[in-house]
Amino acid sequence: QKETILVSACLLGVNCRYDGNHGENKEILALLDEYHLIPVCPEQLGGMETPRLASERRGENTVISQSGQDVTAFFEKGAGETLKLATIFGCKKAVLKERSPSCGHGMIYDGTFSGNKIPGSGVTAALLQENGIEVIGESKIHSLITGTDN
Ligand code: SF4
Repeated sequence: QKETILVSACLLGVNCRYDGNHGENKEILALLDEYHLIPVCPEQLGGMETPRLASERRGENTVISQSGQDVTAFFEKGAGETLKLATIFGCKKAVLKERSPSCGHGMIYDGTFSGNKIPGSGVTAALLQENGIEVIGESKIHSLITGTDN
């Protein structure tokens, strides 16, 4: 039986990104041979519009939009809904879009909207990890495919 994993919907070509586009990663389609994929967009699940202004985490507890609006509640709701789906489907892994304030893992933008990156994770990626779900950035997709070196 195939393992079920979460994936950032924008990686599958869904136009859910803040700018109304997607970030399709063709490698992700190779995962369909071995996994059931559950697409999620935490920002949409949190109630944000598409398209929307870009947002960045600022410190541990706040997410702000490019206009300065505090959008933390949307991001926290989206993270909670994503965790709910992971639990319903028994997902132990999530393949997520890198650098996003929701989905990013390892490095994210620093909250100044200047393109600077700092160590850290998006709100959803952090919540999933806190709950024992392994987060894999899109650049590491190959590590999930049998027969490839990690
Ligand atoms: Fe993609 Fe995640 Fe941003 Fe949604 S929240 S557009 S899934 S990176």
